[in-house]
Amino acid sequence: YNYGLPLSSPLAPNKKQPGAQRISVCVRKRPLTCTERRAGEADVVTALSGECVIVHESKEAVDLTEYILQHRFYFDQVFGEESSNEEVYRRTAYPLVQHMLNGGKATCFAYGQTGAGKTHTMLGSSPGRPGLYALAVRDIFAHLSTTHTRSPLLVYVSFFEIYCGQLYDLLDHRKRLFAREDGQKVVHIAGLRDVRVDSVSSLLEVISQGTEERTQGMSGVNPLSSRSHALLQIQLRRLNQQIAGRMWFVDLAGSERASDTKEPDRQSRMEGAEINQSLLALKECIRSLDQEQSHTPFRQSKLTQVLKDSFVGDSMTCMIANISPGHLATEHTLNTLRYADRVKELRGQGGLRGGRRGKTIPSPKRNLSNSNSSSGAN
Ligand code: ADP
Ligand code: MG
Repeated sequence: YNYGLPLSSPLAPNKKQPGAQRISVCVRKRPLTCTERRAGEADVVTALSGECVIVHESKEAVDLTEYILQHRFYFDQVFGEESSNEEVYRRTAYPLVQHMLNGGKATCFAYGQTGAGKTHTMLGSSPGRPGLYALAVRDIFAHLSTTHTRSPLLVYVSFFEIYCGQLYDLLDHRKRLFAREDGQKVVHIAGLRDVRVDSVSSLLEVISQGTEERTQGMSGVNPLSSRSHALLQIQLRRLNQQIAGRMWFVDLAGSERASDTKEPDRQSRMEGAEINQSLLALKECIRSLDQEQSHTPFRQSKLTQVLKDSFVGDSMTCMIANISPGHLATEHTLNTLRYADRVKELRGQGGLRGGRRGKTIPSPKRNLSNSNSSSGAN
């Protein structure tokens, strides 16, 4: 039973996609929301040719004539507002799921400012429009139902949140958890609940419980989801509990928190500093994965510590940088693209497409419906 989801996979289920990369960096632009449209926000982002994204930033020149700066960035994939979760899934997480089903480790990150579409991508916005979690789960169970091994594979799921450097179990009433490294330098999360699931629907049920726990978690000015990282882990295990594949989906904290130094209170500044530290560490750790460095700086944050296993060996990683199209978000959009550009650039010499870097080009004056562009995000 596939939970009413059509099977998309055009490839044989347990073949690694040809040319699948260990690290891929993609960008997804969401459409303007109704509210943004009504407020007359201009769409300043153009997704081009599947690989290029342009941000049009208007500036006021000295003589008060408006001119436009064009920032161009290249990625492995760029998804425009017309792309569905299914399409994004197929080109980002799908090769990772195949890798996991072959016994590998894979991690998929959703990065971006609050409101840019991370949760829409990971979880989906409605049951009829599933996100990457559900699409991956569908393919995992479809694979298991057609593959018969001597020792059956069992599916386990765990789901927790990292807030201000502390771990909370979303499947166990927000129980505080502790990560420890053992003598073999393997990181364990003591007491983390993992639930065995035997169907797509039971797995989605567990995910939805955890998501509810996440949104109800804490009251405050900003929703907790913008201030914490949510980590969903799906493991395949044999009857003897030996791990036979694992996959992480990480819905990261809003990246604007990392750059916003104008936070009013101490708590918010602390949260921001923590998020900043973890996102910087993440970039460094992905870098070391590519360069196969002997030293991974994973201890620099709780996020990278618990994901340590993702930065060594044969892991595959995909980052989806989510961006808002509106001119009021230009500054954060550029920050997101620069971050993603750095992750991409950090890949080794063998990296793709000649490591084309982001570039800013002044272009002739042109009118945007609103010139007040880089004045920070909502
Ligand atoms: P984030 O998790 O990054 O804070 P959300 O995923 O909650 O952002 O998205 C913010 C809003 O934009 C939500 O109302 C969501 O439904 C909508 N949205 C995000 N991405 C898309 C998309 N690709 N298509 C349509 N609506 C989207
Ligand atoms: Mg969210």
